[in-house]
Amino acid sequence: MNQKINVTVWDEAEGAIGPYPQGIYTAIADFIKASGMFGEVRVALQPQPEHGLTEELLNDTDVLVYWAHSYHHKVEDGIVERIRQRVIKGMGLILLHSAHASKIFQRLVGAEPWKLRWRDVGERERVWKIEHNHPITAGVPEYFDVPNSEMYGEHFCIPAPDELLFISWYEGGEVFRSGCTFKRGAGRIFFFSPGHETFPIYYMPEVQRIITNAIKWAAPVEYPVITDWQQPFEPPKRSVTA
Ligand code: ZN
Repeated sequence: MNQKINVTVWDEAEGAIGPYPQGIYTAIADFIKASGMFGEVRVALQPQPEHGLTEELLNDTDVLVYWAHSYHHKVEDGIVERIRQRVIKGMGLILLHSAHASKIFQRLVGAEPWKLRWRDVGERERVWKIEHNHPITAGVPEYFDVPNSEMYGEHFCIPAPDELLFISWYEGGEVFRSGCTFKRGAGRIFFFSPGHETFPIYYMPEVQRIITNAIKWAAPVEYPVITDWQQPFEPPKRSVTA
């Protein structure tokens, strides 16, 4: 696609949280805009009608960046299906932090919600880049430390990802598959776990680089034109000679 990539940032709540006086969605949308690499950067919020994800907005979204933590149950199934259909047709989806437990991740990827280790004591997380020469890890150091983080540890109950790009180690000793890609239908999906709301993780340049890289990677090259899923081709006619 030659046109600019339109991005929508979605959040499960609105208003100030932790170190984000204007909400996490504003902090995320701000660095995406500041990169200057994308077209329209819009925000949609769970409390809005249709959770802000109208047909019109989704149809004009190339990559949806989805942050969620606790209110997965508040997301209506019909809107989840609307997102799913759009991903299957090619929209990119970046799932941040606890979006591993969201309905859309469960439905698209098959993750089991909250089947992982968990601890929230503000310990250090070291994010290791294990896949080099990949669009999402480009420009990211071999490792970087998140000084205070929420621990998500293995075993993380997901199907094997297509690509495992980052593994995190925590001070308490656990490890976690913190950056994974999946493909479903024509859509590319990236999950990235650092981003607990009480720590200023989305202000970190390494994290911003990973997310902007992922948006570029997940953007559709072209949306597939599917005329009729149901119509099979006629088999070729063969003449059989005895
Ligand atoms: Zn959290």
